[in-house]
Amino acid sequence: MGPRPDGGAPSFAAPSARAAHPTHHVPRGGFRNPWPGAALRGAGAMLRWGLDRAVHGVPKDPPRDHFIRAQPALLPAGHEGLAVTWIGHAAVLLQIAGSNLLMDPMFGERASPVGFAGPRRWVPPGIAIDALPDVHVILLSHNHYDHLDAGSVRALARRFPAAEWLVPLGLVPLARSLGVGRITERDWWERHGTGPLEITATPAQHFSSRTPVDRNQTLWCGWTISGGGRRVFFAGDTAYHPAFGEIGRRLGPFDLQLLPIGAYQPRWLMRPVHMDPEEAVRAFRDAGDGSDPGGVMVPVHWGTFKLTDEPMDEPPRRVRAAWDAARLPAERLWLLRHGETRRASG
Ligand code: ZN
Ligand code: ZN
Repeated sequence: MGPRPDGGAPSFAAPSARAAHPTHHVPRGGFRNPWPGAALRGAGAMLRWGLDRAVHGVPKDPPRDHFIRAQPALLPAGHEGLAVTWIGHAAVLLQIAGSNLLMDPMFGERASPVGFAGPRRWVPPGIAIDALPDVHVILLSHNHYDHLDAGSVRALARRFPAAEWLVPLGLVPLARSLGVGRITERDWWERHGTGPLEITATPAQHFSSRTPVDRNQTLWCGWTISGGGRRVFFAGDTAYHPAFGEIGRRLGPFDLQLLPIGAYQPRWLMRPVHMDPEEAVRAFRDAGDGSDPGGVMVPVHWGTFKLTDEPMDEPPRRVRAAWDAARLPAERLWLLRHGETRRASG
């Protein structure tokens, strides 16, 4: 497609347009989850986790070659349809209203600040950065290494200098230091129009950190994208929380809901920060006030980096079972292979 009609300067929401003290802002700086039960475990938790693992062991994973990659089948440039390609983990290429969007574009080998340690990738990215079509918009949900990978951001900023980046509050300095040009930051519920799309940041229950001293100094969020009569919800990295229904009421109904289903064990430690597959199906239904909201669920945040104790192949099994138990139609749960493209009909 040709140059986009909106190619103007980066825009920021005027601070006066924001509520003076939203409950997820800490008055002296930084952010918090505004819901009860959202507090993270204290300093002893990692020690207890380590001891538990030493005593009880960890369930066995499938072999590392368990997941089979698929060949992407992208929509051609200018196609007005809706399609999703799973790159792996939370990274997704979304094609909507003739635009190509990337969510949480993690293409790196390790989800870690260093190259020699930290969770190593199980499956190569479903599509390489060099093989991407022209990318118009890139959305980041928060600053954790499995979602915001410095090498990937640098490479994307070089390859797509005209792309518009949307980030939650506080992430502009980091993104700029990595070479990002056009960038806009948003608080929960703030909208941004770009080309044919309207994009809105949504609440999520999580936390942020890249170093031992920057906990919750930048915000975390999900995003909704609407354009060409279609609506998509990307929940970001999140626990189950009370706002999924409100997101559906204000910004739905959604053709696609991209919801995280992995990194949930042990529950006593992970529940405040990550949904399990049953909670993800519940979040999907919350968009319809507890019954079938219509549309498709695309599970993400699984099968790519070993972050927690559940076996790598357990999240898809459990989400399928929860989906069936909720009597939702099998063809509306898209459990994609890495690299697989699926087009929405209509
Ligand atoms: Zn995270
Ligand atoms: Zn994550």
